[in-house]
Amino acid sequence: MPTTVVEASQQPRKRLFILLLGVTSLVVLALAFLLWWVPSVGLENIHPSLPLAFGLLLGSVALVLVGGLGLLVLTLLTGRDLFMANWLRKIVVKYLFPAIISIGKLAGIDRDQLQQSFIALNNQLVDAKQLRVPAEKTLILLPHCIQTFDCAIKITGDVEKCIRCGKCDISGLLELANAYGIDMAVATGGTLARKLIVEKRPKLIVAVACERDLTSGIRDSYPLPVIGVLNKRPNGPCFNTHILLPDVERALKTYVIPKAA
Ligand code: SF4
Repeated sequence: MPTTVVEASQQPRKRLFILLLGVTSLVVLALAFLLWWVPSVGLENIHPSLPLAFGLLLGSVALVLVGGLGLLVLTLLTGRDLFMANWLRKIVVKYLFPAIISIGKLAGIDRDQLQQSFIALNNQLVDAKQLRVPAEKTLILLPHCIQTFDCAIKITGDVEKCIRCGKCDISGLLELANAYGIDMAVATGGTLARKLIVEKRPKLIVAVACERDLTSGIRDSYPLPVIGVLNKRPNGPCFNTHILLPDVERALKTYVIPKAA
């Protein structure tokens, strides 16, 4: 598999989600068995073949579910689009995420860790699609906290107002975005991010944010493919945050066709 934004550093995060998917499969199978076994004691009294018919029906449903989860795990392990990366991403984003979060909570797993795992998993499913999107159709979306707190320039609305003084990562990101010919925008929250997406109509978003915002952004933007890049928060949350430029650059190199000069 070529080196992509789905880097080795994401492997442990991904493994957690795969482990929880395995647990979910076992829960589904156990529930299917119980659903069959409990009523079958009484169903037999109605008709002798009813327990078998009911068991076959539930077994089929469970096999479809577990088959879907198995396909998901295979897609994650091989990094290939096994025909259904789109469909699998929908299942993960819409339905599995809340279930996995609940199971993770019950198991006492830290929410940030679960969200990191979800983001890594989402990135891999987007990666499996092997996208190459023109720069004009790509959007880099940033949180406001990346701008240094005491910068007097208001860059929400127009990042090009930044005078590239180098005090925060906005200047480096702007250079990168300009080199590729990509639109870059800063959003102060989910509502503004949604508005920007409606206005700019991208086909791919490279989003930088914390675990919570990336998770909700990926879910809100579905079916739009979003590559999530986690920010660094050496000063605590939402304050003078940073980004590892190579993380963003790797995503652009992998998925974006630069604008012709
Ligand atoms: S790089 Fe741009 S946004 Fe950051 S502090 Fe300097 S002028 Fe402000």
